[in-house]
Amino acid sequence: MSSIIERLDKIKLNINSKKPQKAINIVAVSKTFSLDHIKPLIKVGHEHFGENKVQEAISKWQDVKKHNKINLHMVGKLQSNKAKSAAGIFDYIHSLDSQKLADILSSYEKDNNKFLKYFIQVNIAYETQKSGLPINEVESFYNYCKIEKNLDILGLMIIPPNDGNSSKYFKTLSELNVSLGLKDLSMGMSADYLEAINHGSTYVRIGSSIFGKRL
Ligand SMILES: *Cc1c(COP(=O)(O)O)cnc(C)c1O
Repeated sequence: MSSIIERLDKIKLNINSKKPQKAINIVAVSKTFSLDHIKPLIKVGHEHFGENKVQEAISKWQDVKKHNKINLHMVGKLQSNKAKSAAGIFDYIHSLDSQKLADILSSYEKDNNKFLKYFIQVNIAYETQKSGLPINEVESFYNYCKIEKNLDILGLMIIPPNDGNSSKYFKTLSELNVSLGLKDLSMGMSADYLEAINHGSTYVRIGSSIFGKRL
């Protein structure tokens, strides 16, 4: 079995072979894995890590962040009652999808003088079990976040339906991103990151292909 460093290197090679136009950030999604399992990547200087639960992120990363340059990404659904704790530990939030969240995060930023980066999550196929905004609400929500709340919105994010049509969803999201004048896109996971990069993704969120199967 190859090590997690070898697996990350292989992913980087795969990405470079596509000759992407922009720099690609690999968010190593370490949810469920212990810090001991993750440490080799921290040691070689990998900086972007993703988690999907606020409490797990705090207990795993609070101390490590004091001693290493780490950018921590919230990739899971964020409940508004956890938004402030999330803003304390995370640097990026990929799941911004409500005015209530935007209001809380914006007031956190002002009170604490800590400014995060955000992706607006889009529910591209209107799946009821998934979070994210329907496409027709994205533009007005983006304007609200940017103009009323001064949040640093990098771009849009999706978790596409598992129906073999990722490419179609990536294309739609990419077009919407461009129409809003946004520069970054959070899309692509272990199974489809190269496809996502073909459609302009700049942040790929990769878990199992780096760390192995989650239990
Ligand atoms: C778990 C997770 C990932 C990583 O998924 P893999 O298929 O293991 O690469 C990416 N994005 C989100 C939102 C996740 O919850």
